[in-house]
Amino acid sequence: MSATWGRFVFAILCAGILAPDSSGAEAKPIHKVLLIGIDGCRPDAIEAAHTPHLDRLIKQGLYCENTDILASRETKGDTVSGPGWSNLLTGVWPDKHGVVDNSFKGSNYQEYPHFFARVKEARPESKTASFSSWPPIAEKILSHSDETINAKAQHAQDYLVADDELSTAAAKCIRAGKSEVVVCYFGQVDETGHGNGFHPTVKKYVESIERVDGYIGRLLEAIDERQKTSPETWLILVCTDHGGLGTNHGGGREKPEIRQVFIIASGAEVKAGKTSEPTYQVDIVATALDYLGIVPQANWKLEGQSVLDLKRSE
Ligand SMILES: [Zn+2]
Repeated sequence: MSATWGRFVFAILCAGILAPDSSGAEAKPIHKVLLIGIDGCRPDAIEAAHTPHLDRLIKQGLYCENTDILASRETKGDTVSGPGWSNLLTGVWPDKHGVVDNSFKGSNYQEYPHFFARVKEARPESKTASFSSWPPIAEKILSHSDETINAKAQHAQDYLVADDELSTAAAKCIRAGKSEVVVCYFGQVDETGHGNGFHPTVKKYVESIERVDGYIGRLLEAIDERQKTSPETWLILVCTDHGGLGTNHGGGREKPEIRQVFIIASGAEVKAGKTSEPTYQVDIVATALDYLGIVPQANWKLEGQSVLDLKRSE
């Protein structure tokens, strides 16, 4: 090989654009991300529930048991879904994205958009997909989505149907193989908590988590199939926007049952373990971008840290 040709091949390798050979043996797997959001899900209720799919993700992945839904500085956000999902999907806190309650007044998604915008800025060819049952996710927060299901649930019963349908659609999307980043949001756990109580001893609340676990099973089955048949490796993130106490969660900044939640980061390339290091909702976007190999630009002013390299305690 001539020195010039060698440098050329080296440059291609460094750029990471070497095409897979026909056998696929040398192909570097494409990194893809599935973000699963379960609204209003207390971590102690997951423990109480029979959730084989979540258990598998926790066992095989990294469980962050000390995730805060509020920033260490005062950012004026209430402990409700509007600011919570904005934190989780934009990667910045309410004093930047502007959403402090469920009115969405003052939102600044122009400057701090849904992270799909960041993925597409870095990689315009990337495809994104969003499936959700709480309408503001799709109608207020979401942008830059190539495939969107806004299941538009309003009442508790609607969420059961909507979550079921949207998980089937999301599994189909994963199987189709076009999307690099898929977000799947389930609303029924929060809805059941408001109706019956957010607590591991509340049967209906625990059962709603078990139902959602069944939907997560559909998504994981689709990912397992893709990983067997295609050069893809998925990171699966699971998170929530808040816990709950009694039948509410607003005004919960002094209440650990509301404020302290969890992050699960699981996948073939994630080292298993548990960490009690402080983690935050804004770490979700940082972790997704890290796994996709996207270095955040300074002018995005993102705030989180990737959880993937956190020290494991076991
Ligand atoms: Zn919520």
